[in-house]
Amino acid sequence: MSWEAVTALKQQIPLHEYLQAQHWKPVRHMAGGKLLGLCPLHRDRQPSFLVDPAKSLFYCYGCGRGGDVIRFVELYHGVKFSQAMALLRASFSGGCLFHDITTFYQIQLQRHPEAIRYLQQRGIYESHVIEDLDVGYAPGNCLHPWLLTLGYSLPDLQRIGVVNHQGRDTFSRRIIFPLENNLYGRSIGHAAPHRLLPHTKGGLYRWNQVQHCSEIILVEGLFDLASLWQAGFRNVTCSLGIRLNPLQLRQLCDPTARTVYLALDSDDNGSGQAAARQLSDCLCQQGVTAKVVDLPEDHDPNSFFAAGGTADHFRRLLEQAHP
Ligand SMILES: [Zn+2]
Repeated sequence: MSWEAVTALKQQIPLHEYLQAQHWKPVRHMAGGKLLGLCPLHRDRQPSFLVDPAKSLFYCYGCGRGGDVIRFVELYHGVKFSQAMALLRASFSGGCLFHDITTFYQIQLQRHPEAIRYLQQRGIYESHVIEDLDVGYAPGNCLHPWLLTLGYSLPDLQRIGVVNHQGRDTFSRRIIFPLENNLYGRSIGHAAPHRLLPHTKGGLYRWNQVQHCSEIILVEGLFDLASLWQAGFRNVTCSLGIRLNPLQLRQLCDPTARTVYLALDSDDNGSGQAAARQLSDCLCQQGVTAKVVDLPEDHDPNSFFAAGGTADHFRRLLEQAHP
């Protein structure tokens, strides 16, 4: 790989922009435009991660590591230089498009009362939660004309899957939650309830924000996660379905000592509980402390809170969780 290609990529993706895309936020503005925040590379209790946006460099006073955006990607994702370059290139080519799509859907949410009503029915009403999760709404058949006016081509849109072969929007009448490299759409009408773009669902939802927590709550769906956030539990991640893919399992089993609370759906036929026990066994074999949270019958965390469950009640369920 040429030195020119490396330099060009670094110019295309400033470190601070990359960190923002990973939801990193500074807690203090320092002299010379530098920013200080919690280190995404180690379990940081006091802000020790210094970023110089002008030079696109970072240094952590806690773990002593520093460098440019490529070095950051190497450390953050645990990959080699060439893989870090490939990850950065992929995030650059798809990143702007995903950002434009997410913004469009967020604007549509405010324009469609039926979408807001649906969220309220599911017990999600706090605007800061809706904003923090970048929740949007896909009315259908208006995304692609707008993206074409922004200069994207139809083949681009079909390649990432937001437009189908007939040239129609893939998502129609769906609440949208953006994932790292995908979108999740929950139907508010009669269509199949869950839909993702035809890519991998990726790793655990916003793993970087919870991976250093000593206790993590794992839920199946994004509405479960939204309800828990709203109730004040922020140490939550989501697997998007009961089956964890190999990347998600690896993330939960990394060498950090932690307790994982499995707050999965409790259905009347017991399949949810059986799946939770199976996952708990699997995690225990890998040396992870896993506990199963017993929700009232026929409830998931979302319906538990929507039906009036309180944070205190949920905290008691966590205390009663068992291996
Ligand atoms: Zn650090």
